[in-house]
Amino acid sequence: MGFEVEGNGEQQVAILLNELLGTSEFGSLIDGELVAGNGDDVELINPATGQVFLTYRDAGEGIVAAAADAAVNAQKVWWSMTATARGQLMWKCGMEIRAAAESLARLECISAGKPIRDCRVEVAKVADMFAYYAGWCDKIMGQVIPIPTSHLNYTRHEPYGVVTQITPWNAPVFTGGWQIAPAICAGNAVLLKPSELTPLSSTVLAKLLEQAGIPRGLVNVINGLGHTTGTAAITHPATKKVVFVGSPQTGAVIASLSAQRVIPCVLELGGKSANIIFPDADLDRAVVGAQAAVFSAAGQSCVSGARLLVHRDIYKEVVERVASAARKLPVGLPWNESVMVGPINNQKQFNHVRSLVSDGIAEGAVVAAGGKPAEIGGGEHGYFYLPTVLANVKNNTRVAQEEIFGPVVSVISFSDEEEAVALANDSRFGLAGAVWTADVGRAHRMAAQINAGTFWVNSYKAINVMSPFGGFGESGYGRSSGYQGLLEYTQTKSVWIETAKNPAIQFGYSIQ
Ligand code: NAD
Repeated sequence: MGFEVEGNGEQQVAILLNELLGTSEFGSLIDGELVAGNGDDVELINPATGQVFLTYRDAGEGIVAAAADAAVNAQKVWWSMTATARGQLMWKCGMEIRAAAESLARLECISAGKPIRDCRVEVAKVADMFAYYAGWCDKIMGQVIPIPTSHLNYTRHEPYGVVTQITPWNAPVFTGGWQIAPAICAGNAVLLKPSELTPLSSTVLAKLLEQAGIPRGLVNVINGLGHTTGTAAITHPATKKVVFVGSPQTGAVIASLSAQRVIPCVLELGGKSANIIFPDADLDRAVVGAQAAVFSAAGQSCVSGARLLVHRDIYKEVVERVASAARKLPVGLPWNESVMVGPINNQKQFNHVRSLVSDGIAEGAVVAAGGKPAEIGGGEHGYFYLPTVLANVKNNTRVAQEEIFGPVVSVISFSDEEEAVALANDSRFGLAGAVWTADVGRAHRMAAQINAGTFWVNSYKAINVMSPFGGFGESGYGRSSGYQGLLEYTQTKSVWIETAKNPAIQFGYSIQ
């Protein structure tokens, strides 16, 4: 069911915050308390109306320092518990999230502008993340290595201590859960800095975790701007690792800040993924897949299939079918149950989408559907853009090379498998990709040759907390989710124990 939101959503958000946080005075969540920031005002704008619905203050250095202190203390408590006890508490976290799911989904819907149906799915997935990593807590095991001396040598996977996580605005609660769950599973405490544009759901998530029983201060949410609050968290001595999800431009800054402190970082960045259709594919499914790949979340997804590569024999038919389907997609206010495409999250991103589309047209692309903002809400000024299909796109144009992060697909023609691979790989990114074909041999050949961290065959956007996720090329490095994502939050220690009765102490390395 959809729900009612009046005007800019201010009243509805206040009710939800009161229910979920116990107050509508918003700030950072430090050591279990909501604390007002010391910096400049930050305005939250409803993407569906373009109007401010809440103002809070940037956290700033002092609040980050308090969060770091709380995290250091809470981490000691957390790590001193048995792994089984930590796992049981993480399981409870999943249950607490499920109990608050509808309110949390509504809060996300209003503040991020995401259709309520998508928000419900994402919140449910966050609960699953905690359930999944609950199971890992007491299964993080080292190895005993059969070295050729009288030593017993074994490894331990230890936490870093405090990790800083910085996340973007496109899937705030999903990305928050996706990073918090493996971090605390491995025994770390967290400083999470969500996007300043969408901080509400992550803050509520941290509150729910505390209500489930994890130590106060284990997960702190510092709310504010990137160059002030975000930078303060990365440069704080307590931070021992940084995990960043966001744009490549900011990723480079984060990597450089981390390098100056000689601490590791994981970068989960953008993409321009190629979705490839061959003539032997089941076209009905491929066309639906092509729409889902790029129009869900109004294209504001890192794995969006923004480049649709279509064999020339079926090019005209596929363009017509995807365009016709795009024109029928329900675009509108995200809290309406039937809406599948909501607004773009913010004005800057909205302008970016418009600029890339007009550049594409100037460089020869033909608009087969959409190509302009959508009029929604009777005179409101939300950031709605029509699902757009651009045909005759050349792969070397700006619209085909730059991440668009909007509901726009560029359709590019190819003549054979070799050309499809070459076009798909002619991108600085390498986040995801897909092929639609009935030829199993070709499917495997494509999976092996496309430069991407995730590749789908006859599918798109399948994602699960159990499976590793991350980028090739400028889409980043390191992995999130699954066992590999868990290991990113641990550091390996090698322990040597002499077991001989009267061992000779070696002068120098004892290597045999
Ligand atoms: P962004 O890079 O502008 O911001 C991301 C975060 O970085 C925000 O919290 C921001 O406040 C913070 N930040 C900005 N400057 C900073 C600084 N100097 N120091 C510390 N922190 C700083 O990205 P965005 O516009 O919020 O999100 C969109 C981008 O995120 C897209 O490129 C998208 O592809 C990417 N993304 C990637 C994944 C993935 O897993 N690969 C997932 C979702 C989104």
